Amino acid sequence: MTVLVKPKVLGDIAVHDFHMLIDGKWVAAEAGETLERVAPGHGVVVSRYPAAKKADAERAIAAARRAFEDGPWPRMAASERSHVLLKAADLIAARADELAYLDCIESGKPISQAKAELGGAADIWRYAAALARDLHGESYNTLGDGTLGVVLREAIGVVSIITPWNFPFLIVSQKLPFALAAGCTTVVKPSELTSGSTLLLGEILEAAGVPAGVVNIITGTGPDVGAIMTTHADVDMVSFTGSTGVGKLTMANAAQTLKKVSLELGGKNPQIVFPDANLDEFIDAAVFGAYFNAGECCNAGSRLIVHRDIADEVVSRVAALSAKVKVGDPLDPQTQVGAIITPQHLEKIVGYVSAAAGNGATVFHGGSSLDLGLGQFMSPTILSAVKPDMAVAREEVFGPVLSVLSFETTDEAIRIANSIDYGLSAGVWSRDFDTCMTIGRKVRAGTVWMNTFMDGTPELPFGGYRQSGLGRELGRHAVEDYTETKTLNMHIGQRTGWWMPR
Ligand code: NAD
Repeated sequence: MTVLVKPKVLGDIAVHDFHMLIDGKWVAAEAGETLERVAPGHGVVVSRYPAAKKADAERAIAAARRAFEDGPWPRMAASERSHVLLKAADLIAARADELAYLDCIESGKPISQAKAELGGAADIWRYAAALARDLHGESYNTLGDGTLGVVLREAIGVVSIITPWNFPFLIVSQKLPFALAAGCTTVVKPSELTSGSTLLLGEILEAAGVPAGVVNIITGTGPDVGAIMTTHADVDMVSFTGSTGVGKLTMANAAQTLKKVSLELGGKNPQIVFPDANLDEFIDAAVFGAYFNAGECCNAGSRLIVHRDIADEVVSRVAALSAKVKVGDPLDPQTQVGAIITPQHLEKIVGYVSAAAGNGATVFHGGSSLDLGLGQFMSPTILSAVKPDMAVAREEVFGPVLSVLSFETTDEAIRIANSIDYGLSAGVWSRDFDTCMTIGRKVRAGTVWMNTFMDGTPELPFGGYRQSGLGRELGRHAVEDYTETKTLNMHIGQRTGWWMPR
């Protein structure tokens, strides 16, 4: 039923022993502890990172603060920062294979996909470099004679950047280059499961000419390190991507000192398909949307909302194509669905499927974990006859599991789509312009794809409605997010009167 690609035994592969970057120095954790990463597709230790604790995080924050207050980065011409970012983009492209290998082996994503993500990431660094030179404020010479209002844009200060494990290099690239373009200094914490490529980025940024202390990269768990990064008084902003639960905690932590927060959180995204859609295109997009990155994707199209008239045909065709998806060894160039991030997460996915089946959903395709001898894998799974109130239709499963619901009227489709707490993205499939626009306007999501799915470029803003997040990344305002405005209100020449009569 599923095309399996058995993982190759890696044997005595060299474990990457990483250090972290604080104030321009590559260091171990003060307490000397380390975290080991077992490759989810191969079951062997592949990386070892320092297990940073509060004291390490405090040193990193202090370094970023000094670099912001006294260092050259916030003070240099934007064009100089732009040149450094362009050099970084070139070096990312030059080391793309190394970076992609680390993302693949540590996260379990397919190597072909990891390479594509690296190409996309280098492009984002180039886009940020272009925006750096265009960052500007406003002036008002229209406020009356003898007055001038100038609105400056200034770097917000020290930014904590916290990222998840599912797109390790891509997500740090949606934040860091824009923060740097604005002139900020940073403390970056990648996920403790996939820190390798972000640490390698530290080497790249040093080689590109980013001064010491401007980018500090620390590795450790959320409670040990992330907590201090979101509460410390010397941090001005937190840019977080991860689960909605930790996002809420981050916002509550940041509220103690009123830091600005940018939150990119979970999603449970509907793909709504009408009878007049081009089904050949749609079936492919449905399979891609559900299983891309093993469904461990905030944008996964994990809710298929299909018109009742075509429901049977759509489910059968999606299942037939699902059976052709190649699952297995993340390092094999043919693999389309790699490994599941941890054994615990695999258990959680299987638990969602069993609970749905217990509540009346039909396991139409797949439905179980796969034993490939090494690592942990899940079969592409389709659940039909799912009801909108089931957990599998409302919560992020974060695995290759597609829930199929049906509708009769456009209003009903919109109601189902909007009936959950998330609002990250959505897809609509129809040849009718009015239908697409109605869904596009009425579904509450940060992105609505029409007759396509999961396309994106750095020019287009990305982020969520409701509990999918706060703020937008990418797009032409991405650098502004990392700034404050300052109003200079000026008077020119002699006044005729002030407060007291003259
Ligand atoms: P997570 O929330 O468990 O962890 C994200 C990051 O937060 C990690 O670096 C983690 O160490 C850190 N963290 C954990 N506890 C913390 C704490 N108390 N204080 C500060 N930091 C803490 O998420 P995850 O499992 O790594 O990633 C999957 C989630 O990320 C999914 O919900 C997914 O939808 C979401 N995500 C969203 C987007 C988006 O752009 N909207 C993109 C990718 C992933």
